[in-house]
Amino acid sequence: MNFVDVLEKLSNANGVTGREDQVRNLMKEYMAPYVDEVSEDKLGNLIAFKKGKKADAPTVMIAAHMDEVGLMVKNIKKKGFLQFTKIGGIDDRVLLAQKVVVHTDKGSLFGVVGSKPVHIQNEVERKKVIEADKLFIDVGAKDKEEAERMGVQVGDVVSFDTTFARLSDTVVLGKAFDDRVGCAVLIEVLKRLPEVDCNVYAVGTIQEEVGLRGATIAAFQIKPDLGIALDASVSGDTPGVSEGEAPAKMGAGPVVTVADAGLIAHPKVLRLLIDSAKQNSIGYQLETGVRGATDAARIALSRDGVPSGVVSTPARYIHSPAAILDVEDAKKSVELVVAAIVNASKHF
Ligand SMILES: [Zn+2]
Repeated sequence: MNFVDVLEKLSNANGVTGREDQVRNLMKEYMAPYVDEVSEDKLGNLIAFKKGKKADAPTVMIAAHMDEVGLMVKNIKKKGFLQFTKIGGIDDRVLLAQKVVVHTDKGSLFGVVGSKPVHIQNEVERKKVIEADKLFIDVGAKDKEEAERMGVQVGDVVSFDTTFARLSDTVVLGKAFDDRVGCAVLIEVLKRLPEVDCNVYAVGTIQEEVGLRGATIAAFQIKPDLGIALDASVSGDTPGVSEGEAPAKMGAGPVVTVADAGLIAHPKVLRLLIDSAKQNSIGYQLETGVRGATDAARIALSRDGVPSGVVSTPARYIHSPAAILDVEDAKKSVELVVAAIVNASKHF
């Protein structure tokens, strides 16, 4: 399967934080042919291992989070409507009128995030953002009992109902590109990685969107000498965004984070990434000051500290029902990470 097909499968799979099974199963299948071992830890991180040529070479951990932002059923109202809570950072304004899928023990149910129609809203209501706790999901149940019979329970997770689409030769649309693009990059890195000195651990992490939880325990187990998180980054090239707010652009190559809300990239890792990019003529973008953090923030603080950095693929509209990215950027992210792993034993 080629890179875009893998991204498509991963984007269409559902893995709202805490329920990453579908994504984990796919990743296990796609990574297995290229590594010596794949295992799952107690909380659900997927850990693939590729043995290096030199016993004393450094251990590299690359990580991409398998979870996506979504919703969770909080209460079933008497009339069958579902109240929900948000899982991860979602802007209330993007929720209204979205088609969603409620994942129950009995299977998937389609629904829509409902609200009062425009026809009967007054002037004030029309101008106001409706907060998430005033919204509800309508799965077509006539009352609470019917919703329960259909399988709905408090705690069921809800994902956006978005199907992957190819927009142009290189631009694609889909849900959960944060961080399925990182997952696809991770798989492709393993596929392309030649025999290297370093031991490589490639990890699909859980529960990143609610506090980088999976990476915390994965790094503890792996004890890496350096860590690189593979993620999606805000592409600031859309109307209404100034250059200073989000400098990364779609189509300009992978984003190398200098600093974000959780990490100041270790100078040796930054050097490794930038040198590797230059050596291989890979265009890259430096980024700093954008809010948010990645798994690298937790890898860096594991045990007695792990020099860490981030390679991201720019994507528009992340943490919303549909994002857009250029697959050429993602392929360049793959090239950069492969080159960095090849060079790692010279730098560490
Ligand atoms: Zn992410």
